[in-house]
Amino acid sequence: MRDETRILRAIVTPAAAGTPLHEGPVFAAPFHVPGAVGDATYTYAGYEQPNWTTLERVLQIIETGAGLPDGAEAKALCFASGAAATMALLGTVLRPGDAVVLPSGAYFNSRKLVEGYFAAIGVEIRSAPVTGELQGELLEGARLLWIETPSNPGMEVCDIAALCKRAHRAGALAACDNSMATPVGQNVLALGADFSVVSDTKLMTGHSDVLLGHVAVTDEAWYARLLEWRHRTGGGPGPMEAWLATRSLATLTLRLERSTANALRVAEWLESRPEVLFVRYPGLKSHESYQTAARQMRSFGPVVSFALRSGEFADAFLRAAQLVTNATSFGGITTTAERRARWGNDAVHEGLIRMSVGCEAIEDLLDDFGQALDGKR
Ligand SMILES: *Cc1c(COP(=O)(O)O)cnc(C)c1O
Repeated sequence: MRDETRILRAIVTPAAAGTPLHEGPVFAAPFHVPGAVGDATYTYAGYEQPNWTTLERVLQIIETGAGLPDGAEAKALCFASGAAATMALLGTVLRPGDAVVLPSGAYFNSRKLVEGYFAAIGVEIRSAPVTGELQGELLEGARLLWIETPSNPGMEVCDIAALCKRAHRAGALAACDNSMATPVGQNVLALGADFSVVSDTKLMTGHSDVLLGHVAVTDEAWYARLLEWRHRTGGGPGPMEAWLATRSLATLTLRLERSTANALRVAEWLESRPEVLFVRYPGLKSHESYQTAARQMRSFGPVVSFALRSGEFADAFLRAAQLVTNATSFGGITTTAERRARWGNDAVHEGLIRMSVGCEAIEDLLDDFGQALDGKR
């Protein structure tokens, strides 16, 4: 069976007469445990609860994809956010005295977490740009290689398989933040990463209504340690979030197909416009890592970063565009965009817009962007 079918079938309940096809959210903290703890499937929602079980079953199918090396199966653990998943991974792996190799263009919140917390407890930070696999030069004696590709918001790409191989040769573990591409668009476990870390707030759930994250692994011992981290820290999501996420994952492949096709059209159109200084999209042949992206990604995703000549011009474009919601985050069904420099977190061009292309009719989007740029000349 293909991913599309397996994901859809995974959320259907067993055919017991008179029960719903899809289970609803289960609002419970404690569950009935009349006798021995081991006899109850669920005991306390901080440890395990039914909506997590279903969600993780779907995540495991997605992370295993068409197949992992040596017939391995992915195991997934959901968390209350991408940041909680990131902290679970870093907190489980890193100890004082360890070195971690980060991309200098990593998502700002992950960077700040490592610089602010892990540096203070004695973790050594090494960083290098995403492009050109430069992180591979810093691996000697390191405990963990953390990669992010495509990176947010620079849309830089690195070779996952090559970097993971180098990490393993150096005795390091390799984790990939796969929020931009999703495991459907790019299977990082199949490419050699030990850990797949994803903010499911973005594309995975896709409706701009849930905060969620997950970590996937194939190794049982790491799975057990991550599970213990979630128990001890209370890092799991609420039942409503897990339930909404499961519903949303049913349409992941559909949404991804449509928004990615739209994003490529938008990127090509932007490249043809004289007002645009540069366009960053891994699916463009002009992207410096296009060959790598085309080899390792099954889908280039919905995010296009591009620069207009100034911050004012970019703001004017966003005001004039009727079909672009000015908001942060990405991966929703409707087109959103923002001028990234307004946050002050990333070293980006003042006029850089990170656009997340939605599932609208492409003709409507291009017409709208056309009028929004034309009025500004
Ligand atoms: C958003 C994001 C995160 C953090 O996820 P949250 O769900 O917002 O906590 C981590 N990595 C990347 C690349 C992201 O875009």
